[in-house]
Amino acid sequence: MDEKFEEILEAIWAAGENNNFSVEAINKRCAVDFSDEDLIELVKEGMIVKDDDKVFFSSKGKEVAQSIMRRHRLAEVLVTSILKVKSSEMEKIACQVEHCLQPEVEESICILLGHPEVCPDGKPIPKGRCCDRGVKVVNNTVVSLNTLAPGEKGKITYIKPGSHSNLHQLISFGLNPGVVVTVHRKSPAFCIKFENTELAIDEEIVKNIFVWRLVG
Ligand SMILES: [Zn+2]
Ligand SMILES: [Zn+2]
Ligand SMILES: [Zn+2]
Repeated sequence: MDEKFEEILEAIWAAGENNNFSVEAINKRCAVDFSDEDLIELVKEGMIVKDDDKVFFSSKGKEVAQSIMRRHRLAEVLVTSILKVKSSEMEKIACQVEHCLQPEVEESICILLGHPEVCPDGKPIPKGRCCDRGVKVVNNTVVSLNTLAPGEKGKITYIKPGSHSNLHQLISFGLNPGVVVTVHRKSPAFCIKFENTELAIDEEIVKNIFVWRLVG
């Protein structure tokens, strides 16, 4: 979803926490300007219901907004406790960070922070699956591609520049950060699949490719 719409949903959620459902209250809390057309767009997408100057979530909208709030408030805890951002800047930076939190990263950050229940302003953080299970160990860190078993998938985060000239070749094949690769087999040669390509790569190069392990 467009970042602007995410911000509007966030503002609707925050206003609703104070039992205020008016467009005016939502406007006051929103980090971006929005128009009536934007609200109509959200109605069309089935996210909200409008009733005069009041706005309410549909169940789908509530679910989407809840996950945005979760990411926003986890980002707030992250930027204040780990990154030591000044509290005057927290809000703005949290909003930027939240849009980059991929689901797999979000869970690891929640675990890392010990499943925080409230954000630095004392507002509740919606729980995730990891919180209910009380997961204590982050097992979804960035790993070298060669630690994945056949059939496992990973999203490339980083390719370590080595002495291999072949590495440049990999990049020219489209193996860039963000690309999801599946380990096809590991012997007799390490073989990966991504997009519509199947590629055998040198074990030494595989070690220099770092990925987020993707589950499911
Ligand atoms: Zn935000
Ligand atoms: Zn907060
Ligand atoms: Zn959690």
